[in-house]
Amino acid sequence: MKKIAILGATGSIGRQALDIIEKNPDLFTVTALTAHRDSEQLISLAKKFGAKYVGLTGVSGDIELEKKVPKGVDVGFGIRALVESCAAGNPDIVLIAVVGIAGLPPLVECLEHGTNVALANKESLVCGGHIVKEKQKTSKSELFPVDSELCAVYQCLKGVDTTGLRRVILTASGGPFFDWSKEDIANATVEQALRHPNWNMGKKITVDCATYMNKGLEIIETKWLFDISPEMIDVVVHRQSIIHSMIEYNDGAVIAQMGPTDMRQPIQYAFGHPERLESAVGHLDFASLKSLTFDKPDLNKFPCLRHAMDAISEGGAMPVILNAANEAAVELFLERKIPFGGIEQAVASAMSKFAHLKAGTLLEIYNTDTEVKRFVYNNLK
Ligand code: NDP
Ligand code: MG
Repeated sequence: MKKIAILGATGSIGRQALDIIEKNPDLFTVTALTAHRDSEQLISLAKKFGAKYVGLTGVSGDIELEKKVPKGVDVGFGIRALVESCAAGNPDIVLIAVVGIAGLPPLVECLEHGTNVALANKESLVCGGHIVKEKQKTSKSELFPVDSELCAVYQCLKGVDTTGLRRVILTASGGPFFDWSKEDIANATVEQALRHPNWNMGKKITVDCATYMNKGLEIIETKWLFDISPEMIDVVVHRQSIIHSMIEYNDGAVIAQMGPTDMRQPIQYAFGHPERLESAVGHLDFASLKSLTFDKPDLNKFPCLRHAMDAISEGGAMPVILNAANEAAVELFLERKIPFGGIEQAVASAMSKFAHLKAGTLLEIYNTDTEVKRFVYNNLK
């Protein structure tokens, strides 16, 4: 029986993780659950799954919540609740499925205490990849990527000799604006940006897919998770999202990881590891797929991907600046305060304005994040 804590339990990944747990009651049990503001759903999930700790991160206290939780269940608030969830009930694995840089403190906490992590949150690695890498040198934690492309690369690289590795090829769905003109994309509405062709995900990552920032963040994740230099990471648009990513050797051989377009597959891979559980989502029927297509990403139409590539080659604080500007700008776009094209502009202007900031230590990362977000909120809405 593995004990699992789920940070971001009320979200898209969190709920799919709970579905896997529900389908495997003999294998998994829940220790802790967190939500940001959705206390109703949090309480009902805590009751259903018997969590002994619940955390509500978006508030500093809530007397009503404390009254409603079952007897014997501990309650925490604010960012501390994420960190406390990593220890409450001694979980064997912590699923970090919160949005944004909020994923970094619990990731560091798990690494410091040798707790295994199923990592869906990408912003934590984008901002703190160098710190994660350093901590991994002495940590007993294993890190299982849940992001489907990263889980694919993990599976392709597992136990193989990487001396002849030529490149890693991340697949991108192309998002809702793949065949739109640049002018139309700049004025896309919130509803249009949220209409992802293949995946049903939280709003922030869905917008990131529409701008292609998501793929840029995944290049940065790949660099840190697998110690692969960015020049060896390519992106190919694959509209069907059946191939989740590939690796290529010098001799031209390509190994691809394929599977149903369903996040429960990588989640159950992380939870079950090293065992492979029976699929909760069915199996591929190749004859009905008919064709798989591939296109080059259009960096002119989707400049956020280029910004992410620039950020990673510049290094230093640039990935933190890119991420912070993007997080703030996506929020403003979802609140209909800036146009879709404003997201890319916010990222570009933050990257040129804040190049002097630092992000060596955790404190510097959080300070840079705060300063860049403040700039975007104050100047661009
Ligand atoms: P959702 O928006 O669906 O869910 C986010 C969860 O985190 C909710 O439980 C939410 O609580 C909570 N939350 C929101 N903001 C904060 C915050 N500032 N601090 C702490 N908790 C917060 O997101 P997704 O499940 O789509 O994505 C989660 C992470 O996983 C992201 O980093 C995303 O990039 C990554 N990911 C997601 C994929 C997907 O298929 N959805 C695929 C690959 C990666 P509440 O409900 O109360 O708001
Ligand atoms: Mg992904």
